[in-house]
Amino acid sequence: MKHVVMWSGGITSWAVARLVVERYGPENVTLLFADTLIEDEDLYVFNEKASAQLGVPITRVADGRDPWQVFEDKRWLGNTRIAQCSLELKLKVCRDWLEASTDPADTVLYVGIDWTETHRLPAIVKGWLPWKTLAPLAEPPYRDKQQILAEARSVGLDIPRLYKLGFAHNNCGGACVKGGQAQWARLLAVFPERYARAEAAEEKMRRLLGKDVSILRDRTGGTTRPLTLATLRTRIEQDRTDQLSFDYLDWGGCGCFTDTAEAA
Ligand code: SF4
Repeated sequence: MKHVVMWSGGITSWAVARLVVERYGPENVTLLFADTLIEDEDLYVFNEKASAQLGVPITRVADGRDPWQVFEDKRWLGNTRIAQCSLELKLKVCRDWLEASTDPADTVLYVGIDWTETHRLPAIVKGWLPWKTLAPLAEPPYRDKQQILAEARSVGLDIPRLYKLGFAHNNCGGACVKGGQAQWARLLAVFPERYARAEAAEEKMRRLLGKDVSILRDRTGGTTRPLTLATLRTRIEQDRTDQLSFDYLDWGGCGCFTDTAEAA
């Protein structure tokens, strides 16, 4: 039996991999990593160290485009609700690899969904059919992300720097289009050059499509309107309070490998 862990470089995928390696041995495990080409440099360092510690090489697949190129090709700007990048850069390339390299009859997939997200599991399991998909972190003993990060430290693994810098996920260099305003505020504070790139890419898409589209939405005042990264940046720059204390900011969440699996 082959055991394939959907490896994102996030700490939950590491926790899943550790469990699967313990149960079945490193020789029976694959760590399948889809590279979006805008990952944080430190993600590759983490991948290398974690992979060496687990005794399993990383199997890297890549579409060859980054999310911004996907948005241009699809003529659709990814946003907190629909992110074509996840489908094109993660789900499709992983499915291609699975079809070429495994037999669904003797392969099990593992995703980093935990016990707080079990409502998402049925769609995920259905999306990866005909492969069987398991989520070991959704089963006891239940642990939260902080406990998993502590576990990683306790076995001598340096955790990915995006977590240390206050990001909720180690995906797409902290610039996930499914992230909320808090993620973008954090990105502006920590990696202004990445924010500037995203802001310029969003502006390019608005010109290309000739529409008032945006990654984020503004819900202040009870109505929902597009909120561009340029506007958010201006608001943050004008606000004298700590950026992360804004009560209207939300973190949002990344659903790569999960939310849209049924569409792959
Ligand atoms: S992490 Fe976010 S931006 Fe990156 S591919 Fe996934 S949904 Fe798209």
